[in-house]
Amino acid sequence: MIDKKTASFMRSLCMGQIEEDILLPFPEISSAEKETLQGVISSLEQLFRPHSEDFRRWDRQGEFPPEFVEELRQFGLFGLVIPEEHGGMGFGSAAYSRSLQEVAKYDASAAVTIGAHSSIGMRGLLLFGTEEQRARYYPKLATGEMIAAFCLTEPGSGSDAASIRTTAVKDGDDWILNGDKIWITNGGIADFFTVFAKTGGKDQRAHLSAFLVTRDMTGVSSGPHEDKMGIRASSTTTITLENVRVPAKNLLGEEGKGFKIAMMILNSGRTGLGGGSVGGMKRLIALATLQAKGRVQFGKSISEFGLIKQKVGQMVVDCYATEAAVSMVAGLIDQKYEDYAVEAAISKVFASEALNRTADEALQIAGGNGFMTEYPYERVVRDSRINRIFEGTNEILRLFIALNAMNDVGQHLRELSKSLEGVFNDPIKGFGVISEYAARRAAIATGIRREGTNFTRLHPALAKYASLFEDGTRDLAAAVDRILRKHGRNIIDKQFATKRLGDIMIDLFVLACVLSRVDASIRKSSPEAAAHELEIVHTFAGQARRRIRNNVSEIDANEDEQIKSLADHAFDAERFAWDTI
Ligand SMILES: Cc1cc2nc3c(=O)[nH]c(=O)nc-3n(C[C@H](O)[C@H](O)[C@H](O)COP(=O)(O)OP(=O)(O)OC[C@H]3O[C@@H](n4cnc5c(N)ncnc54)[C@H](O)[C@@H]3O)c2cc1C
Repeated sequence: MIDKKTASFMRSLCMGQIEEDILLPFPEISSAEKETLQGVISSLEQLFRPHSEDFRRWDRQGEFPPEFVEELRQFGLFGLVIPEEHGGMGFGSAAYSRSLQEVAKYDASAAVTIGAHSSIGMRGLLLFGTEEQRARYYPKLATGEMIAAFCLTEPGSGSDAASIRTTAVKDGDDWILNGDKIWITNGGIADFFTVFAKTGGKDQRAHLSAFLVTRDMTGVSSGPHEDKMGIRASSTTTITLENVRVPAKNLLGEEGKGFKIAMMILNSGRTGLGGGSVGGMKRLIALATLQAKGRVQFGKSISEFGLIKQKVGQMVVDCYATEAAVSMVAGLIDQKYEDYAVEAAISKVFASEALNRTADEALQIAGGNGFMTEYPYERVVRDSRINRIFEGTNEILRLFIALNAMNDVGQHLRELSKSLEGVFNDPIKGFGVISEYAARRAAIATGIRREGTNFTRLHPALAKYASLFEDGTRDLAAAVDRILRKHGRNIIDKQFATKRLGDIMIDLFVLACVLSRVDASIRKSSPEAAAHELEIVHTFAGQARRRIRNNVSEIDANEDEQIKSLADHAFDAERFAWDTI
């Protein structure tokens, strides 16, 4: 029996266990939600299709006109995740993610505007709000009378969110907030702000709390619209809080739990960004195939050339894999799993990078046209770039993914040996630990079948790929073990090694999601009917396997020291040191 409070596929995997029941069968959107979703998709087409030329203009102008934001309101797009009894559509994560996919097919700025509202701006209220707070704000948030924004980042505090300087000081029953937030999506159009501030006095870095702040509170103001590289029409501004008096009833969640609240909001909202990425990729595949078929060079359509087919085929694999991972994470959330942070982080990193690759290759297929603003490609390249930066940079998320795994294994080893350093530094002692972990690790290292170390429920047509996954799992166990023994406590400073582990975990989770998705397809029809999906899993499994092997071999054979030395040399000189004259 799976305990949904603590179960996590990836955390178990790092301990050598394949918890296939978490990922099988592949999650499906409920039929009731499907029906509502169909309605939303067709109304989105009605709303967005007539605006396709406008989107290009609004991108140049760098702003949506208020009339368009009003249309988003009229179509109910700010109520996607708000419960029906409060005037919203009550979508779970899967249906929400699918809706954002649809919006992103038309325009990334629109997807970011709607996404920032539902994924992060008001998600704190959804996750941690009291009944009274929800009743007070949900109806206005559902109609878009209030648009929401999430205010964490400050000039001196980006990735290091715990270092924010905005303060909240108690005054009677109220709180007085002071501080400056930057790059707040929806900052110029929002009336509802989830604001993070320090409540632990001057020195306590991590003692943050979250507050529900509204624009009508005296002292709240937003700065001018930022001029950006991409998602230009979406509103990004500073938010200034000057002696803002916030009533005690607007504290969100527990006092002092603000950091955890911020992280849980970001984790829970990740399927919005993921859905948007899938939508962008689907649009790009449609554009690129049309473009390639229509372009004749050397007497042939360029779609007939191998190098063009290679790009399009890879886009298809990337898009399928991204959708599998994002849908899986949404499914986990909807099934009420509570520990999905690692899986959600993986889906964000994979989705944002797959979208970037796809956008870049679609532009390349279009050649010179791709570079012209008359065509959509350059805008998609600009728009997609932000996804690797916001809602946690991909660097920070890779570290988070890998350190989580090592923390678990490290804890386990420590508990067993009562001597962390003894185990990490002395391989003989480490291997000698009679433990569940060591036994499982040995079992997977030698390939001896043991309960829980292989997939048993996948369709037989997937046996070859399940076996590739199991090989990868053995490599992961070996990699965690090897890295922990090599670096021990110093692992925090060994980012090159940590990144390799993060990359192995990303490949394994996405492969597991692809296997689960193809399994569902085969079971619905037959291996023959799912022939193309078998080609996808064949390709992704092969590519992932090679990347994993490469990452494992680089743990010991690498150029890390030289790369670090060259970087330090450049930092010292603050320039490239060589020339040819
Ligand atoms: C268009 C846009 C919209 C945004 N919307 C919002 C919003 O609505 N609400 C909000 O609160 N914020 C928002 N942000 C802020 C965004 O979340 C931050 O930009 C992001 O968290 C990164 O912080 P930073 O830009 O300060 O980069 P930094 O933290 O300064 O990082 C710079 C670089 O260093 C790397 N780095 C940092 N620390 C480490 C480390 N320990 N190890 C290795 N590498 C590291 C980063 O990965 C990055 O590559 C938005 C930003 C943009 C550009």
